[in-house]
Amino acid sequence: TADLLEARDLARSYTVRRGLLGRPTAVRAVDGISLRVARGETLGLVGESGCGKSTTARLVLGIEPPDTGSVIFDGNAMPPSGTAAWANLRRRMQMVYQDPLAALDRRLAVGVQIAEPLDIHRIGTAAEREERVAAVMAEVGLQPHHVARHPQSLSGGQRQRAVIARALVTNPDLLVCDEPISALDVSIQALVLNLLSDLQERLKMGMLFVSHDLRAVRQISQRVAVMYLGRIVEEGDPDAVLHEPAHPYTQALVSAIPHPGKTTSRVILQGDPPNPANRPTGCAFHPRCPVATATCRTETPELKPRRSDGRRVACHIAHGEAAAARAPALLET
Ligand code: SF4
Ligand code: MG
Repeated sequence: TADLLEARDLARSYTVRRGLLGRPTAVRAVDGISLRVARGETLGLVGESGCGKSTTARLVLGIEPPDTGSVIFDGNAMPPSGTAAWANLRRRMQMVYQDPLAALDRRLAVGVQIAEPLDIHRIGTAAEREERVAAVMAEVGLQPHHVARHPQSLSGGQRQRAVIARALVTNPDLLVCDEPISALDVSIQALVLNLLSDLQERLKMGMLFVSHDLRAVRQISQRVAVMYLGRIVEEGDPDAVLHEPAHPYTQALVSAIPHPGKTTSRVILQGDPPNPANRPTGCAFHPRCPVATATCRTETPELKPRRSDGRRVACHIAHGEAAAARAPALLET
C-alpha cells in the first residue's frame, strides 16, 4: 500500500489498583484502534485527556507492545522491540514529547542531546554527526551558539525546537507528536505549530499529531480522528468534521470551542467524565449523549463510512440506525 503507517485493531489494557487494598482491575486504555498515515500526510488524533491518544502514540512507535493488533510501517510488520530489525525501523519514526524540559537532560548541552539518536543508531563519524546537528538546528531555527547551552538556559520555545531537532536528526519518515505545544506559553504555541507544519511539508514526512486542541489539529492536519474512551468515533477531513461534526461527542467538543465575539450555543456534556476503568456498555458515550436511545445502551456502534458522504463515524443515529428525530436539534439549545 501507499501508506507509511498502518495500525490495525490495536488494543492495550493496564492493571490498576484503586487504593492500597483495592482489587487489581484491568483498564482498557485503547480498545480497537485502526489508523493510517500516508507519506507527506498529517493525521490529527484528538480527544480529552484519558481517551487513550498518548497510549496509541506509544503503541504505534513500539515503545510498548499492544495486547492485540499490529503496526505496519512502510510495508513491514513492526518487529519485537529491542531487536536490530526494530531499531532499524525505529530510526525512521521519531517522537516529539509534550514537555521539553522533562524530555531533555539538564546536565547535558543540547547539542549532545540532539546528536543522541545518531549515537544510538551508530550513524556517521564524529565530524559527520557534528555537521548534521548544525544543519538540523538551523532547520528548526536554533542559533549555532545554542549547541553548547543547557536546556534550563534556553526559553521554552527554544527547548521545544531542540526536542524537534533531536527527533529530526535521523531524517525520519514519520514524526509522532504528543501534545507538542500544550506545555508551551500561549505566545509561542503558534510559532511551534507553524514550524512543525513547515517541516512536515518540506521534509515530506508523515505525521501523527496528538492533541486535545481542536483548533491546532485543524490547522495542521489533512485528516482528523476523534477519540473517545479508547476508540475512534469519527474520522474525516478536518474542515468538514469541525464545520459539520457527525458524532454527538464531536458536536459537543466543537461547540465548546470559544469564538470571540460570538455567542454560540453550547452543548453541555452531562454525566461523569470518561473513565476507562468504568466503560459503559454499548456506545461508551451513551451516558453523556443528549440523543442516546435504548439501542445505544446495548449495541456498540461500528466506525464505518456514512452513506451520504463517506464520513467515517461510529454512531447509530448518524447512520440512521436508531430513531433520529432529536438529532438535528442538538446544536440549537
Ligand atoms: Fe449517542 Fe447513541 Fe450515537 Fe452513541 S450511538 S453517540 S449514544 S446517539
Ligand atoms: Mg496524553
